[in-house]
Amino acid sequence: MKKILAELITIGDEILYGQTLDTNAHWMSGQLDAIGVKVVRRTTCGDQEEEILQVFAEAEQRADLVLITGGLGPTSDDLTKPCLARYFDSEIVMNQQALAELEAYMTSRGRELNKLTRLQAALPDKCEVVSNDRGTACGMWFNRNGKVFVSMPGVPHEMRYMMVEKVMPRIQRAFDLPIIYHKIIRLAGIGESWLAEKIEQWEKSLPKTVKLAYLPGYGDLKLRLTSLASDLELQKKEIDQLVSSLMPLIQEYVYGYDDDSLEVVIGRLLKEKGLTLALAESCTGGYVAHRITSVAGSSAYFNGAMVPYQNELKIAQLGVKEATIVTYGAVSEETVSEMALNIAQKFGADYGLASSGIAGPGGGTEEKPIGLIWIACAIGGKVTTRKLNLTKDRDVNIKLTAVALFTLLHQSLVAND
Ligand code: ATP
Repeated sequence: MKKILAELITIGDEILYGQTLDTNAHWMSGQLDAIGVKVVRRTTCGDQEEEILQVFAEAEQRADLVLITGGLGPTSDDLTKPCLARYFDSEIVMNQQALAELEAYMTSRGRELNKLTRLQAALPDKCEVVSNDRGTACGMWFNRNGKVFVSMPGVPHEMRYMMVEKVMPRIQRAFDLPIIYHKIIRLAGIGESWLAEKIEQWEKSLPKTVKLAYLPGYGDLKLRLTSLASDLELQKKEIDQLVSSLMPLIQEYVYGYDDDSLEVVIGRLLKEKGLTLALAESCTGGYVAHRITSVAGSSAYFNGAMVPYQNELKIAQLGVKEATIVTYGAVSEETVSEMALNIAQKFGADYGLASSGIAGPGGGTEEKPIGLIWIACAIGGKVTTRKLNLTKDRDVNIKLTAVALFTLLHQSLVAND
């Protein structure tokens, strides 16, 4: 089966200036992927006629389908429509279908159709109208020798509605599409290159129809298996078998599949086991608690958190021994262990997690550099600790520490199975 290739073009100076984040291309890629269209390139182009025409010509050479958003308004800086007219040797004329729809839209909103808005219904004579039920700029569908160009508004909610309701069903009718099936395996506690080494032989034995991708995140990792064919049930079966044969090699690092997040999986395990959790967060400053409580229903297993940032509070409120801090320092295995043990006890929880470190960008010493972070996980009076040597970036360090804590807790939860 021939793959249908698509290119996405987002138009607007504001995207190039960094004023608008191009969420349209990101969203459209996901939608097209789900219906078996392979997006091969995404381009952002400024509001300049020659640039736009050049990008159109390049896209047409490579792709079967070109989706364009933005630049459809009636003002002089909106160039997509005149460019499409020029590109498809069209004249811009009043389109009666578009005009009727525009009048109905304005009436439904109790608004007058002024001269400028009326111009929205003037379209290249070689396009078919794609109705916009959410705004005034209608979409355009061009088909020249089997190559399809679709132009949609830039406003995200208008574009999304048009894509889902009008454009995608039409793409599915216009092209013979394969089915893309993805399976994502989520892992933590192992780096990309270590994983690649571990599964090298298995990877080499993959059939040609299945693609493997490594997608590293903040401290965790996704392995994505993708199959492209025309029988979903067979594809699922084939991928399931491949995942089963992979599992013995990576089981200890796997925490979930597809959309599972660490905090959701941990929550599920704590709930199943009837266990509770408390946190003593120094360098993570409550970020771990935020992620835990962002899961609905977390009150079933999360008792609470303390952020004892100052040493005095670690001692007075959390009961860390002054001698421990004086002897070993706040960023030490000894201190973080006491923090984890004490928070579990004080908050009446089964598990106590703790973090203490030098998040940066200042505050490092030769002995304890920026990025040195200790974490601990306590249960039943026993503590497991990890020393992390992270980056110079504060935000990254906080996120990586949270994932390391989740991983430590997850490992403990599955080890007790
Ligand atoms: P309309 O005539 O309905 O306003 P338009 O096609 O003229 O549609 P633009 O003027 O290009 O739309 O963009 C309108 C707004 O939509 C922008 O100010 C921006 O906020 C948002 N937008 C445009 N392109 C994108 C994009 N690629 N990703 C996210 N938002 C976008």
